Amino acid sequence: MKKIKGNSVSAGVAIGRVKIIQKHELHIEHKKIYRREVESEISRFKKNVDYVINELSKLIQDYTYSQENRDILESHKLILQDPDFIDKISKLISEDLNSLEMAINKYFNDAIDIFSGMSNKYLAHKINDFEDVAYRLLSHIMDERKDILEDVDENSILIMENISPSFVTKVFEKQIQGLCTERGSRNSHSSIIARSMNLPMLVNTLGLLNNVKDGDIVIIDGNEGLAIISPTKSTLGKYNAISKKEHNIQKNLLKLIDVEPITKDGKKIKLMSNIEIPQEIEQVLKFNSAGIGLFRTEFLFIDREDLPTEDEQYEIYKDIAEQCLPNALVIRTIDVGGDKLSNILNITHEENPNLGCRGIRISLQNIPVFKQQIKAILRANTCGNIKIMFPMISSVEELSKVKKIIKDCSNELINAGIAFNADMELGAMIEIPSAVITSDSIAEECDFLSIGTNDLIQYTLAVDRDNQSISDYYKPTHPSVIRSIKITVDNAHKIGKKVAVCGEMASEKKYVKLLLALGVDELSVSPGRLLLIKKEILECNIEEMKAKLDELLSCKTSKEIMKLI
Ligand code: PEP
Ligand code: MG
Repeated sequence: MKKIKGNSVSAGVAIGRVKIIQKHELHIEHKKIYRREVESEISRFKKNVDYVINELSKLIQDYTYSQENRDILESHKLILQDPDFIDKISKLISEDLNSLEMAINKYFNDAIDIFSGMSNKYLAHKINDFEDVAYRLLSHIMDERKDILEDVDENSILIMENISPSFVTKVFEKQIQGLCTERGSRNSHSSIIARSMNLPMLVNTLGLLNNVKDGDIVIIDGNEGLAIISPTKSTLGKYNAISKKEHNIQKNLLKLIDVEPITKDGKKIKLMSNIEIPQEIEQVLKFNSAGIGLFRTEFLFIDREDLPTEDEQYEIYKDIAEQCLPNALVIRTIDVGGDKLSNILNITHEENPNLGCRGIRISLQNIPVFKQQIKAILRANTCGNIKIMFPMISSVEELSKVKKIIKDCSNELINAGIAFNADMELGAMIEIPSAVITSDSIAEECDFLSIGTNDLIQYTLAVDRDNQSISDYYKPTHPSVIRSIKITVDNAHKIGKKVAVCGEMASEKKYVKLLLALGVDELSVSPGRLLLIKKEILECNIEEMKAKLDELLSCKTSKEIMKLI
């Protein structure tokens, strides 16, 4: 038996058999292309190279614990940025009519052959680098078509180096027991999705891959943040008992499905759900959520080769909206960027993506894509329960631009004779300090506000939400965060507008009382946490908490605030 420490993404215990997800054999098809396909093949090449360069930059950023790894990855980036590489691949495609996969394979095999003939030790290392880059690029290109999980058993626990948000959704769809990654952080989008789906997951389990093999029994202890490999009989027995107990707790929570979320002092709280993929609506309905307070639509745009069409989006939004009736569906427009990189929106490499083109900025820089989404939403709202919300708003000007675009879209739909309903509440996400400070003006320009605490904490405290090595600085109860929430709530309430919290703070039991005492009207939480949060609301006395508000707001440290709550 061996124990490896990690960071728990969601509480709970999972027991299963190890399935390591890592490099697999690539079989390159010997395929020639037609001349008419040259242009699209070259554009596929550029898109995929950009993606892998971006991926490498992100890895470099995260590899803070080893300069050696950082240097290796930097050298890999240089290989992909070499003009000779771009030029030769383009020629292998346009002149010799090789498919992209064949061209890349040929380029790297030729380069490796040349280095193999040299007796220099330094150059021998280069062979590994070339092999690695070829593998990374080809596996990315080919994975777009291959289902890695095809043969994975449901009783498995996946062990991998890291995981993308979209891959988590695939793991969930396959009903796999749980997953552990050697890297990653609790606040990344991958983790949020896993938590939302109640999928047991550990991140930052350094060294795990070297200590397991396929088929080993492994326990994920999400309460203690532990991966236990090949447990002894007694440990396994202990965890089977814990798992049974948790199952019973979950069963008891199910009794709250039809109970209204009303606090002890009689305030009814609107308790909604966050979803990332349409399939999550099942959980939303099962737990009797008061609608969807955040639909992260960017997941419709990630991991695909083409954009979802207006009609495709319309069908999805309409279907979810109808299933939500009579409750509301809050659709958040695309929020790619940061760690949610999409390879179809041509997001170029940025040194500092979290401060770069993400959230509403992406939409305002890709107006045709944005308009397609807005039109799909306007059309889907014929059932009248859709609200629209914009991410990463930093100023009133962005809202003015957005409103003008909605008007343009409405006019275009009228001219085309297509049915729609523009009578729709409009909300702004408050997740940047500038939005907090100007929340009075922002609230005037829209119908509701929704606080995205994940980013608000990141930007207020200048701490990358994905960087595990500085996670101690990521403090939801830092006095600046708490005061920011209070400022936002007060500004909105002054003019009769409501405020929701849809960031992860709302899904954490320990912060519920605090948020309600600060005056937050609505909570939108991971569906898997909804009943737990409801239980907390039922046990909460807001007036009692409000009596402590002045003391709370004058606290100087996060520790003092935690003590008070
Ligand atoms: C947030 O930032 O709190 C939020 C809800 O948005 P996301 O996590 O998708 O960035
Ligand atoms: Mg956010």
